[in-house]
Amino acid sequence: MKVRVLGSSAGGGLPQWNCGCPQCVRARAGDPMVPPRTQPSLAVSADGLRWSLVNASPDVRDQLARAPALHPRPGTRDVPIDTVLLTNADLDHVLGLLVMRESLPYRIVSTHWVRHALLAHNAVFGLLAPAWGGVKLDEPVQLDREGHLEARLFPVPGKVPMHLEGLVPNHAEATTGVRITDLRTGHRLVYAPGVKSLDGGTRAELEAAAVSFLDGTFWTEDELAAARPGAPGARAMGHLPISGADGSLARLAALPGRRIYTHLNNTNPLLDAEAKEQAWVRAAGVEIARDGLELEV
Ligand SMILES: [Zn+2]
Ligand SMILES: [Zn+2]
Repeated sequence: MKVRVLGSSAGGGLPQWNCGCPQCVRARAGDPMVPPRTQPSLAVSADGLRWSLVNASPDVRDQLARAPALHPRPGTRDVPIDTVLLTNADLDHVLGLLVMRESLPYRIVSTHWVRHALLAHNAVFGLLAPAWGGVKLDEPVQLDREGHLEARLFPVPGKVPMHLEGLVPNHAEATTGVRITDLRTGHRLVYAPGVKSLDGGTRAELEAAAVSFLDGTFWTEDELAAARPGAPGARAMGHLPISGADGSLARLAALPGRRIYTHLNNTNPLLDAEAKEQAWVRAAGVEIARDGLELEV
């Protein structure tokens, strides 16, 4: 299976429009050590011809423009996208659906909870309802027409998105990771952009994957408060920090397969190519995603 990282930052991107933190300032100024990043999404394909997206970020229009394999066929409105799969209802993962709403030539798949939460509380998403199917956890989803790529959503520890707090109670279907298996090879890809802790089920998914993309939002628990005093901690926002004895890096470094951090917040020191933190992560055998990264699983 072919994989392309469409966007590797967390919500807000790098630089984030309202942020004057040192890294946003450097990215805005064109510092080559802090290249800009778009909001989080992944594209997968069995053959390089037809593609599916995992999440649709608000930057999807530009992300598709930069990926020639995903362009419409000249002279037509045939777009080579079969499925858009959602891992949760966070705005940085779903607002792109509204950006690519014209004619709906693809189908949208999410858990029933995510579908219901977005359709019941946000009238504008009703535009997408005809193309949107709900699935249960671990229910197989055929991504491509030939049936080579099978996706299953698995529950990960998380929280209800901020825009749905108080409207819908949390549920196992609210925050998921996805396992995509190439049925021709048995190779597994895991994408888990929001993980509050690594429970047994999530660890087992990461261990069985040939390539895994994991939540790399924050380096430390209290990182956001430095840029925005009073901001909540990483875990309260649904993201396990990377560093520390109980952070994700200690766990990820011990796993087999190719392990890649993605969904990096603009405050995360890993965004600076010269930062010591980036060297530590690489020394642990873990990679850092970048926009446009392509790989084979
Ligand atoms: Zn910033
Ligand atoms: Zn996100």
